[in-house]
Amino acid sequence: MPISSLLEVQERIQVACQSAGRESSSVTLIGASKMVAAERLAEFQAAGLRNFGENYIQEGVEKVRYFREHGLEATWHFIGALQSNKAREAVGYFDLIHSVDRLSLARELDKEARKIGKIQPVLLQVNVGAESSKAGVAPGELSALWQAVAALENLRVEGLMSLPPFCENTQDSRPYHRALCELLRATSLPGGQLSMGMSHDFEIAIEEGATLVRVGTALFGARS
Ligand SMILES: *Cc1c(COP(=O)(O)O)cnc(C)c1O
Repeated sequence: MPISSLLEVQERIQVACQSAGRESSSVTLIGASKMVAAERLAEFQAAGLRNFGENYIQEGVEKVRYFREHGLEATWHFIGALQSNKAREAVGYFDLIHSVDRLSLARELDKEARKIGKIQPVLLQVNVGAESSKAGVAPGELSALWQAVAALENLRVEGLMSLPPFCENTQDSRPYHRALCELLRATSLPGGQLSMGMSHDFEIAIEEGATLVRVGTALFGARS
């Protein structure tokens, strides 16, 4: 069954890619699926969505299990704040962890990945808006963190993630997206993923180089 919100978001991604002169295959749509039931996600999966992003370990683990039990193929992203004592579940259930922002957490993830013989792909979360309320490494400390994390044998740093300040006027988010892209360029280490852009600003993020957009409300409706 087609789902109109999914078709609309996919269409908007295509248009944004076209206007930015990018291949639409260079952008992956992640359904930011916190508070959306596994059964409903399965409908989106059947309609073609293959990437889901969860914010809370317990909730996410239950959905990953549901998909596994029902033989539903999907790639699972962890996009929320992660506590070190949840590292084992994060590594056990998630394909890409977007929210690594400190070395102590990276070390726990590395340790858990080693135990199960996994090379865990991660992104480093950057606090591009320098907001005290938000997680993320400060831009000036990114390079040091990246080098330290890159030295951990069971993690693979694939790029950067940001959760910029909410901007009433979506165009105002552009400098934050551009800043993350420039940080990626300036960091002369491998890994080219840029996880940025949400329901209200993903087109702008795509114009500025996003490769992973995390879209919740525009796909699943408002969260209660
Ligand atoms: C909820 C969430 C999103 C999606 O937000 P929407 O505005 O609903 O699209 C993206 N990224 C993170 C980290 C989130 O927690």
